Amino acid sequence: MEMKFIPLSVPNFSGNEKEYVNGAVVSEWVSTGGSLVGEFEQKVAGYAGMPAAVACNSGSSGLHLANLVAGAGRGDEVLAPALTFIAAVNPIRYVGAEPVFIGCDDSLCMDPVLAERFLSENCEMRGGCCYNRRTGARVRAIVVVHVFGNMADMPAFLALAKKYNLVLIEDATEALGTRYTGGPLAGRMAGTMGDAGVYSFNGNKIITTGAGGMVVSNHPDWAEHAKYLSTQAKDDQLQFIHGEVGYNYRLTNVQAAMGLAQMEQLEDFIAHKIQMHEFYASRLDGKNGYRVLGFRDGVRANRWFYSLYLEDPRHQRDQVIAALAEQKIQTRPVWALINEQKPYLQCEAYGLEKAEDYRAKIVNLPCSTNLTAEDAQRVVDVLLAL
Ligand SMILES: *Cc1c(COP(=O)(O)O)cnc(C)c1O
Repeated sequence: MEMKFIPLSVPNFSGNEKEYVNGAVVSEWVSTGGSLVGEFEQKVAGYAGMPAAVACNSGSSGLHLANLVAGAGRGDEVLAPALTFIAAVNPIRYVGAEPVFIGCDDSLCMDPVLAERFLSENCEMRGGCCYNRRTGARVRAIVVVHVFGNMADMPAFLALAKKYNLVLIEDATEALGTRYTGGPLAGRMAGTMGDAGVYSFNGNKIITTGAGGMVVSNHPDWAEHAKYLSTQAKDDQLQFIHGEVGYNYRLTNVQAAMGLAQMEQLEDFIAHKIQMHEFYASRLDGKNGYRVLGFRDGVRANRWFYSLYLEDPRHQRDQVIAALAEQKIQTRPVWALINEQKPYLQCEAYGLEKAEDYRAKIVNLPCSTNLTAEDAQRVVDVLLAL
C-alpha cells in the first residue's frame, strides 16, 4: 500500500470557503473593493476585542505598516527576537532602523529579563527617551513575537515599554486566538495589548486567506494611519491627491471571503490543535529522550505549532527530520537565528544561549487542523522507534 504523506501544516477548507469565495467571484468584486474586506476586518476586530482592524495582503506588510505608524525610522534601534521568522525583523530595516537581537526564554518568545538587562546595562535615559550608549542611537521600540502561538510575557514587556518609553509591537502572526485566562491581563488576546499588533493569514497559519494579514492598534489614529498607508496614502476619492508615500498593501475581496469562512471555524481549529498537542505530549513527553514543549500557564494558547525537544544527544535534529521524511512525514527545524543571517551579521545580539539550544534541538511535528489521530500515531511510532 502507498504510504500516506503527512504534511507539517496545511489549510483546512471544510467550512463555507468555496461558497463564500464563489460568491465573491460571481459578484465580480474580486479586487480590493467590495464589502467583504470590511466585514472580515470587523469580524477579526470583534473576535480580538478591538475597535478596528486593518486588513493587508500579508503579515509581513502588516508588520511593515506597524513599524511605520509606530514612528520607527532611520537611526533608531528596535529590540527584536533572535529566534523567530525573519519576516518579524525585516520590516525594521524597511523603515531604516536597526534591530538589536535578544534571546528567548523557555516560552521560545523573547525573554523580558534579557531585554531589561540590555536596556538597563547598555542604554541610558535622556529627556525621557532611551539611547543605546554604545551606538548613540535611540531605542524606539520592541517587537515581541508570540512564537508558535505561545504568549510572550506581556505584563513584563508592557512594564518595560513604559519604563523605557518604548513602543511595543506584537507580532501575533502565529497567535490569533491566544489569550490570557488569568492574571492581570485575563481575557486579553495576543496582539491587542501593545501599541500595535499584527496577524497573518498565510497558508500555514491557524486560519488562512491564501495570503493576508491584519493590523490592530490601541491607538485609533494608528489604525487609521495604517489603513491610509496601505491604500497608496490616497487623500480623496476622485482627484488622486496623496499625502505620503503609500503602499498597495490591501487584501482582496476574494481573500476576505475565504477569511470569513475560516473565522467561523477558528475556535474549532484551536480545539483540534489543543487536542492533538495533548495527543503527542501524552505519548512522547519524557519518553525515548524527547520532551514535548508546553505553553505558558494562565494562557489559552492556540498551540499553532508543536515543538519536539530532543533532550537526549543521541537524537540529532537533522537525522530525526530525515528519518521522518523517509516515512513520508514532513517536519522542520526551528528557524536559524536571525543574527546569524547575512543581512544582520553586524547587528548587536544579546543573551542567545537558550535560543541557540532550542534552534539546535527542536523539531516541529505535523500540526494541521485536519491531522487525524491515526496519522499522529504514525508520527509517534516512528519517533519511538528511533
Ligand atoms: C508568518 C510570519 C510572519 C509573516 O507573515 P506572512 O503573512 O507570511 O507575511 C511574520 N512573523 C512571523 C513570526 C511569522 O510566523
